[in-house]
Amino acid sequence: MSNGFQVQDRFAEGAQYIGGKLLPGTSGRHHDIVNPATGESVLRYELAGTEDVDAAVGAARAAFPGWSGATPGERSDALHRFAAVLAEQADDFAYAESLQCGKPIKLSTEFDVPGTVDNAAFFAGAARHLEGKAAAEYDGDHTSCVRREAIGVVGSIAPWNYPLQMAAWKILPAVAAGNTIVLKPAELTPLTSLMFAQAATEAGIPDGVINIVTGAGKEAGEHLVGHPDVVMTSFTGSTAVGKRVAEIATATVKRLHLELGGKAPFVVFDDADLEAAVHGAVAGSLINTGQDCTAATRAYVQRPLYDAFVRDVAALMETVRLGEPFAATTDLGPLISHAQRDRVAAFVERARGYARVVTGGEAPGGDLADGAYYRPTLIADAAQDSEVVQSEIFGPVLVVLPFDTDDEGIALANDTPYGLAASAWTRDLYRANRATREIQAGCVWVNDHIPILSEMPHGGYKASGFGKDMSAYSFEEYTQVKHVMYDNTAVARKDWHRTIFGDR
Ligand code: NAD
Repeated sequence: MSNGFQVQDRFAEGAQYIGGKLLPGTSGRHHDIVNPATGESVLRYELAGTEDVDAAVGAARAAFPGWSGATPGERSDALHRFAAVLAEQADDFAYAESLQCGKPIKLSTEFDVPGTVDNAAFFAGAARHLEGKAAAEYDGDHTSCVRREAIGVVGSIAPWNYPLQMAAWKILPAVAAGNTIVLKPAELTPLTSLMFAQAATEAGIPDGVINIVTGAGKEAGEHLVGHPDVVMTSFTGSTAVGKRVAEIATATVKRLHLELGGKAPFVVFDDADLEAAVHGAVAGSLINTGQDCTAATRAYVQRPLYDAFVRDVAALMETVRLGEPFAATTDLGPLISHAQRDRVAAFVERARGYARVVTGGEAPGGDLADGAYYRPTLIADAAQDSEVVQSEIFGPVLVVLPFDTDDEGIALANDTPYGLAASAWTRDLYRANRATREIQAGCVWVNDHIPILSEMPHGGYKASGFGKDMSAYSFEEYTQVKHVMYDNTAVARKDWHRTIFGDR
């Protein structure tokens, strides 16, 4: 695959984007972005230190009055132009995303990039539709109305699994609502977040509205969350880091939006279309090499279908083609890093002591030996309270368990700390309806698993966090509502004053 640009040239000036310019970091520490398919360095850059975060917050603060004061129509126009620039650069974005993450190019091209363009187009429209309650005379003497206002400088932190989409999900609703933002992408994968901010500048979004600081979580991340000029923290990442972020944000009384880990159940009732469930389970568990917070991770299959499901899922997993990310025929790329691959492999090795590895459970050799690859893995006979059922593995590993009654299937689905996403597989309307009502998750699919839409909210229940990405609901996070009340009586001595002085 020929690349659209040379990464080294494109980021020669640095990997921070502050006030509309690429700049080097000033932490004194460097980081290598590594292509996980080969283990080779793609770019060495200087990480952001606290001074870079201060500069980015300063740029965002300076840009806030102008951007929040623009009309919704002006912000909408800018976001429409932004969507067009992103679409023009689709090949470059897909290339860079696959290079830094190891994603198969067909996934970047058909999912990550068009999803991002669609998000920009959605928020361009939504910018003109911020809603409030109707103005009315609730007590007869006053007119009340609600203003929905931007809140200021937002500090966002994103993970490495979908760097471009995570940048889009954080940045677009915030700026559509009139805020300015500083985003810290994961150190491993900053390229497409930087390109996203550059594309915004090309589209005419003013300097300082979108800033990117690429630094370590403990240094740049914590400094951003605790910064006194940042009014809101929006974080996507693991539940463990989310707890730390919440502590710092709470200490500085910030508005908080947390999109955390997941351990999505995939519940197959005995009337389900077996072929559909099998295909859904393999696609839903292996998307993005299983590094997807909504990926199917725990399949609960009602006893009559259980054996056939295990057999057919294992057989289909064995047909999935591992390969070099830029080959058109590659279905599954490497994990994000060798460390993540080893972490996943360690989960599977420990599981051998208490469960059965039906297929997979190893790294491929041959041409793929240098990359962070791991074969699609199916684990059966694990207990509900075992590690592989309860913990987020974040790799191409599906665990399958049987259940007998519908009550049991739903109870098992709800039996982890997480609640991000789930699916129910059945042809029975009443079963489907019950599952969507009783499964505690921010999204429940029926007879599918994974599709997302710009118009619909994405966010967790329970330890998967709170707040919504995408959709008009995300404006709840990125705006504050103000009650404005006008007196209509025009009298100096209001009736209610007698409660404070004088008689009627
Ligand atoms: P992570 O929690 O390790 O890191 C996420 C981000 O937080 C990174 O930018 C990292 O540098 C930063 N960070 C680390 N320590 C920090 C600290 N002390 N203070 C501030 N920032 C800090 O997560 P990851 O490994 O990058 O991503 C995988 C995780 O993200 C999984 O748990 C996955 O489920 C979750 N995720 C959730 C969603 C969702 O929508 N709920 C979406 C994608 C990923």
